[in-house]
Amino acid sequence: MVNTNQPPPLVDYNLFEADAPLRESLEREGAAWAQDLVFDLGRLAGTQEAIDWGFQADANPPQLRTHDRFGNRIDEVEFHPAWHRLMEVAIGHGLHALPWREPRPGAHAARAAAFYIWSQVEGGHGCPVSMTYAAVPALRQQKDLAEKWEPLITTLDYDPGLRPASTKRGVLFGMAMTERQGGSDVRTNTTLAVPTGTGGEHLLTGQKWFCSAPMCDAFLVLAQAPGGLTCFLLPRVLPDGKRNNFHIERLKDKLGNRSNASAEIVLQDAWAMMVGEEGRGVRTIIEMVNHTRLDCVIGSASLMRQAVAQATHHTAHRSAFGKLLSEQPLMVNVLADIAVESEATTILMMRLAGAFDRASDPAESHFRRLALAVAKYWTCKRAVAVVAEALECHGGNGYVEESILPRLYREAPVNSLWEGSGNVNALDVLRAMSREPESTAAFFAEVDQAKGSDARLDRAVADLKRDLTNAADAESRARRVVERMAVVLQGSLLLRYGDPAVSEAFCASRIEGDWGHSFGTLPSSPELASIVERHRPATN
Ligand SMILES: Cc1cc2nc3c(=O)[nH]c(=O)nc-3n(C[C@H](O)[C@H](O)[C@H](O)COP(=O)(O)OP(=O)(O)OC[C@H]3O[C@@H](n4cnc5c(N)ncnc54)[C@H](O)[C@@H]3O)c2cc1C
Repeated sequence: MVNTNQPPPLVDYNLFEADAPLRESLEREGAAWAQDLVFDLGRLAGTQEAIDWGFQADANPPQLRTHDRFGNRIDEVEFHPAWHRLMEVAIGHGLHALPWREPRPGAHAARAAAFYIWSQVEGGHGCPVSMTYAAVPALRQQKDLAEKWEPLITTLDYDPGLRPASTKRGVLFGMAMTERQGGSDVRTNTTLAVPTGTGGEHLLTGQKWFCSAPMCDAFLVLAQAPGGLTCFLLPRVLPDGKRNNFHIERLKDKLGNRSNASAEIVLQDAWAMMVGEEGRGVRTIIEMVNHTRLDCVIGSASLMRQAVAQATHHTAHRSAFGKLLSEQPLMVNVLADIAVESEATTILMMRLAGAFDRASDPAESHFRRLALAVAKYWTCKRAVAVVAEALECHGGNGYVEESILPRLYREAPVNSLWEGSGNVNALDVLRAMSREPESTAAFFAEVDQAKGSDARLDRAVADLKRDLTNAADAESRARRVVERMAVVLQGSLLLRYGDPAVSEAFCASRIEGDWGHSFGTLPSSPELASIVERHRPATN
């Protein structure tokens, strides 16, 4: 039987070369020096071999081994070889540590671009990579521990297995805050930390309800010390080679993120060292959370980009009713609309990563404080909708596992859940604005850089600023406010740096409201086809 009208697979292309918004942003954010690194990852990510690793790691989730054959507790998790290949590439390219290895201007932006590209192959393994990257700024609050652990974190060697850290070529970090009775409200943590009387040593006893990547070498953990909630470094293997009392109860059976292990754990007099000040645990670990929040934005941008790449590719090779789908005016509208969302997210992600690079400048630091919470809320929400729409562009083929769209769809909600769920992030925006008014000033200083270039944006910003002076029912209205903040920030960035057709479509729809309630409702324009072309990976 002749097989006609089926698109070729999207393979053997360079994900970086094919991504104009990313290439432009990398240069703008001062990371042109990292082009070779991102180019190399982009090429690898487009190979059949890497694509296969992604599918295999997802289809063969990790297995928990609580005991060995003699009944001794081992608390180990076994991963498919494909997981290890993905991790080798990620660690080998410094996605877990680039800015700490090479603290030069643009390092966070370079890492963001690289992480975004490689996550398009598979999202789950990004979890330990991200937590390891994010642990460093928290760890630096305890100089002696940072001096010991940072050299092991920043190598480019992926060295899995539970052994004393001092014998390993590289180590990975995780984070354990969430408990059964509360994840958002970590003040309810009940895990107890009892001082041993030696330095910052404590013994921790309690449970953690979600502890991802439990095969990491060490964890930053929150527990109640005599002086209040405190951050601790808890290694899985003690310096003398014995296993720490970190027991894995079971692995979560998750909607997505299936290649990654997320565990319920019990600590029973587990040995740990205090990080930062006693009673200031949230303040210490928030340094880590800020960096993982950036990765939630990167992860969402990455999911959107992969979904848009697949949809623009598929529709350029599939015909219905006598024309390619990509030539059908209504499909052009849908594709352009999701491409606009993807570009707005990529530019925002890179601008935020740039703010991490420039955080020693107080204006950038204040901007980051607020813009990060705004972006985390909004981009994570949008990823779910964009992926769903891209799936539909494939028709029935998009509903089939081999198309990658089901995996992207299952992965998409997780970024909005962890590191502060939607509401928690929206409320954090309010908190930042009331406690740090400088962050509001820095946010609008950035938005106002586009002032005068588009009357629609100017009107929306003026309305928003007016509304922000109204404190009544602020919590109830928080999502609405944060959405508007995200959209004016994205509009400003697009007007200054985006493709003109993209920024026009964005301002008309997202800012002026000439738009429906689902994607594919942009005002019609001959420019929509050029937006689609800009986002379609040119494979031939
Ligand atoms: C795949 C996965 C992996 C994870 N890995 C880790 C990990 O490695 N380490 C770790 O510590 N945690 C991890 N988590 C846990 C995650 O961080 C928590 O699930 C999250 O913080 C929410 O906490 P919760 O589940 O207790 O929900 P809750 O705190 O009960 O929140 C439920 C809902 O209520 C909302 N809410 C909370 N407070 C308010 C409020 N004041 N007003 C309005 N709405 C509110 C939240 O936004 C949320 O939508 C993981 C979660 C998942 C899904």
